[in-house]
Amino acid sequence: MNSIDHDQQADHFISQVSEDSPILSVRNLSVHFPIKRGFIVQREVARVRAVDGISFDIYPGETLGLVGESGSGKTTVAKSVMQLTKADVGSVKFEGQELVGLSTPAMRPIRRKIGMVFQDPYGSLNPRMRAGDIIGEPLKVHNLVESRENYRSQIASLLSTVGLSSAMAERYPNEFSGGQRQRLGIARAIAAGPSMLILDEAVSALDVSIQAQVLNLLQDLQEQYSLAYLFIAHDLSVVRHISHRVAVMYLGRIVETASSSDMYENPLHPYTQALLSAIPTPNPVHERSRERIILRDDLPSPLDPPSGCRFHTRCPVATDLCSQTDPDLRVLASNQQAACLLAPGYSGAKGV
Ligand code: SF4
Repeated sequence: MNSIDHDQQADHFISQVSEDSPILSVRNLSVHFPIKRGFIVQREVARVRAVDGISFDIYPGETLGLVGESGSGKTTVAKSVMQLTKADVGSVKFEGQELVGLSTPAMRPIRRKIGMVFQDPYGSLNPRMRAGDIIGEPLKVHNLVESRENYRSQIASLLSTVGLSSAMAERYPNEFSGGQRQRLGIARAIAAGPSMLILDEAVSALDVSIQAQVLNLLQDLQEQYSLAYLFIAHDLSVVRHISHRVAVMYLGRIVETASSSDMYENPLHPYTQALLSAIPTPNPVHERSRERIILRDDLPSPLDPPSGCRFHTRCPVATDLCSQTDPDLRVLASNQQAACLLAPGYSGAKGV
C-alpha cells in the first residue's frame, strides 16, 4: 500500500463507517506539557508529549471506545476536547465548529452540548449539595429553568430517566451507593440536553454487576436521545459491549482503530493483542488454554518516548527495524487501521 497522509487515511476510514457528518472531528491533535526549571528565570528543560498527533471522528449516536493504560494520554484527549487543556497543534471540531482557541465564554454553549461523567462519582459530586441541586445546577447555569415548579419537575424527570426515584432529590451524595452516585453523575451530564457525552473511566470504579447496569443505562440513553459517546477506559473488556468502534492509545498515539467486532476478533497491533489476552473468558475450557501475552517493563515516560515504534521496548515481536522506524497509522483492512511495521499488509513505513 502506498503511504498516504494521516488526513487521507482518516477520511478513507470515515467514508467506510458512515455517510453522516461527524459530530466530533479531531485532527492531528498534540498536547505537550513543558517542564520548567530555574529559581529566578524558569526555562523549559523538557516536554511531556501527553498526546502526539492523534485523529479520530465520532458520529451522532455512535460510541467510540478510547482504550489504553494509565498514562497513555486518554484523559488529556478528553480535556483538550473540552478545552480544559490547550492543544499545541491540531483541530477539534464539534458540530462543524472549531473549538481550539475558543475563549471560556465562547465555550459555554458548547459545554451545554457535551456532558462529562468522571470515574469517581463521589469526588465529582459536591457532598454539601442535595442530589436535586447537583442535577439542577446545569439547568441554572444554562438558563433552562422557567419556574421553581418547572425546576422540580425537570429534576424528577432526570432522576426517573436514570432509574432513581424523585424522593432521592432531597438526599446528599453520601446517602447513595456507588452505582447510584454514578447515575446521579449521568443525570447531571444529560441535564442540559447534550448531544455528546465524554465518559472518562465512568464505570471503572464500580463492581462488575453494577458496571453492567450502568452500561445498560448508557445504551438506553443513547438510543433514546441519539447521544454520541467518547467512552474512555483502561480495560478493553469494559468497552467491548458499548462501543461501535474502538481506538487503542499507547504513549500519546493511537496505534489501532477498528470496529468493535474487528478489534476483538482480529486485532492487528501487538499492543492490542496483549490487552485482549489479559481479558479472562467466562468459558473455563477456553480460560485454561488462554495464552496471556505478558508485556515486559512499565509504560515508558512520555517525557522521552522510545525511538522508532514507541512500543518496541515492550513488544514481544519487535525486530531491529522497530527501534529505528516510526510506523504511522495505516488502513490495513475495511474499518481497521494499525501502526505496526509487522502487521499484515503494512509496507513502506515512514522514517522518523
Ligand atoms: Fe512491535 Fe515493531 Fe509492530 Fe512496533 S512496529 S508494534 S515494535 S512489531
